[in-house]
Amino acid sequence: MTDFRDDQENTSGTGYTEDGDDFEKVCMMCRRTESKAGKMIQLMQGMHVCSDCLQRSFDTMQNSPFNYAEMMQNLPPSFGEIDMSAFQNRQVPPKQKIRKKKEAKEETQKKTLTLKDVPPPHKIKARLDEYVIGQEKAKKIIAVEVYNHYKRVLSEPDPEVEIEKSNMLMIGPTGSGKTYLVQTLAKLLDVPLAITDATSLTEAGYIGDDIESVVSKLLANADNDVERAEHGIIFIDEIDKIAKKKNTNQRDVSGEAVQQGMLKLLEGSKIEVPVGASSKNAMVPLTTVDTKNILFICGGAFPDLEGIIKERMSKNASIGFAADLKDKYDEDKNLLMNVTAQDLRSFGMIPEFLGRLPIVFSLESLTEDMLVKILQEPKNAILKQYKRLLELDEVKLSFEEDALRAIAQKALEKDTGARALRAIIEEFMLDIMYEIPKDDNIGEVVITGDYVRGTGGPRILLRGQQALPDYGV
Ligand code: ADP
Repeated sequence: MTDFRDDQENTSGTGYTEDGDDFEKVCMMCRRTESKAGKMIQLMQGMHVCSDCLQRSFDTMQNSPFNYAEMMQNLPPSFGEIDMSAFQNRQVPPKQKIRKKKEAKEETQKKTLTLKDVPPPHKIKARLDEYVIGQEKAKKIIAVEVYNHYKRVLSEPDPEVEIEKSNMLMIGPTGSGKTYLVQTLAKLLDVPLAITDATSLTEAGYIGDDIESVVSKLLANADNDVERAEHGIIFIDEIDKIAKKKNTNQRDVSGEAVQQGMLKLLEGSKIEVPVGASSKNAMVPLTTVDTKNILFICGGAFPDLEGIIKERMSKNASIGFAADLKDKYDEDKNLLMNVTAQDLRSFGMIPEFLGRLPIVFSLESLTEDMLVKILQEPKNAILKQYKRLLELDEVKLSFEEDALRAIAQKALEKDTGARALRAIIEEFMLDIMYEIPKDDNIGEVVITGDYVRGTGGPRILLRGQQALPDYGV
């Protein structure tokens, strides 16, 4: 690639070129970057114009009835006193700078993802296992599909066989770990991730974020590096909230229209996005991001979907010999596992939208056992965090099995999945964290089931002593 650097700029210590030539120059008139618009002409420090715009300006002047030469001669004397240094010191805010594509800069090339960096499915799953409890099927599907996705993206295309994009739709109750799974995945692959909420997206022109703003977000999370962003992951949560509304005569701004608006994005298209801002305006540079290789994962709780699935399955059952199975579905906590595209259409997702999310899978509802495991097993489990905090005060923190069960039962009552755990623990740990540092003699705190249920206190052991009777904090 051509090196467009201006020698005089490299000697400068301020402004646009301050941090070397990692960043793109942007035309101050059309806001295109140097890689798109071609070589830039520097007007003054930090201000560039592309040759197209410069040519257009000359053409305009030539065809204009104005006599510019005469106008320049008749400028008022004060014109020469304008302080041009104000323009010279103009700086592009760092978050609006666009990083140059990798070919231009070898040392940053390390960051580019290659097929070798993508672990095989069993290794992806093993890494997910370290953080995410249960959800075996979901983890397996994600591991295989993500591996296939990056194989498609990072290998040489074969003209004979075109591998389809494997965008995913993840269905699962609130707090079952949808966001957490995607976050863990992006971290282990070291790819940028943007998370957005479908409810905040609207069609262009309406109040709310444009659908394309999520690509801007991804670009920002990729450090304005277009190439890295193009290998990233976009997670759109609460996708069930943009289902087509039934029986409505009003214009459907946030539902079907948003689904329609997302089609191009999911499929892969070149999108002009503002850099460092969520909306396009005259002052923000633009760049193009191709969404062809971006992995889209949509997630949602789909609250009434179980009813739809039950109805379909019962209908099938009553036709055949399996009519007695009907009641069984009422008991089934994991009916969502049986979801089909037909059910999602009945829910209000349009077929074109579903067609662009070929991989559909469900997460299990968390059980008491799973919640107990979530408390203590993942690498960054909440209990491990509290234990570490008290360890710094040289106090040992332990939990009775009964206490863990009591926390999990309380969380189940709240019906917000694992999300409830932290709030419950914070509530009773507040007193502990407040009282313990007061007394240097305390060596161990044992959280009991009664303490969690509010019917007793924790057990406190003094340093060098054996168990003491219950002692309320
Ligand atoms: P949602 O399904 O609503 O997106 P989240 O992924 O936000 O749920 O889960 C909330 C929190 O609960 C996560 O930050 C994580 O700490 C915890 N969590 C949920 N499910 C699991 C799980 N299966 N294993 C470990 N932690 C989990």
